[in-house]
Amino acid sequence: MITNGTCVVLMLVDVHFHTYVYTQEELAKALIDIQENRVFLCSVTCEIHDWTQTLEIVKQSNQILPMFGIHPGNALNHVENLQALNPYMKDASMFGEIGLDRIWVKDSSQWPAQDTLLAYFLESAEKEDKPVMLHTNGGEREVLDMLDTHSISRAIFHDYDCSLAVLKEIVDRDYYLTIGRTILDEYKARVPNWDHFLEMARVVPEDLLLTESDGPPRDHRMPYDVLMETISRVANSYKNLRQTWTSLR
Ligand SMILES: [Zn+2]
Repeated sequence: MITNGTCVVLMLVDVHFHTYVYTQEELAKALIDIQENRVFLCSVTCEIHDWTQTLEIVKQSNQILPMFGIHPGNALNHVENLQALNPYMKDASMFGEIGLDRIWVKDSSQWPAQDTLLAYFLESAEKEDKPVMLHTNGGEREVLDMLDTHSISRAIFHDYDCSLAVLKEIVDRDYYLTIGRTILDEYKARVPNWDHFLEMARVVPEDLLLTESDGPPRDHRMPYDVLMETISRVANSYKNLRQTWTSLR
């Protein structure tokens, strides 16, 4: 698009992608893929080695934003020596993915370590005004309370799946959300309380809803394909659900 002599380049944005998962060969193809198809990737990390790998990757493209994060599932690896994370945190302009996981990490003796790690990241995010990308699996209420304690102004709740009451509070604070594939009919039988996604589609304003694929998927497909598939599926479901709600009013 050309406007008044200014070139405006439109891009698709995937706010949650694990670029480091690709092999070298796949990565070379992925870099061409995002350039040709104008895809911008927010590249989250879950461990220090993911971050160092991702920093090498971003040298090869200006269409990838690296985020430093330690996944809550890895909290025990770091909780005894949080200061060792400082140099990595200092270099990152955004933190992710960080958060709490009370569902996949079933052993509750590990949960205090998750709390401590998340608090450490949020203290730094507050001090340096950095946005955060949050994994909140089963810990949404607690994560929201911690954001309040630390006065975090910019946050993205990734692949949100929780109660409508907490969702409304997230929206009231103007935090962003992504709704993943779980919104699709095919997940109905597998996801407990799937029906609440209908409510979510009604409540989340379009300007707070971001696109993500959480890719690459197991078959390591290229970013554009994965994002387009996710966007079109989620957008159709979202649109249909909102129409259903409107007609019910
Ligand atoms: Zn992820």
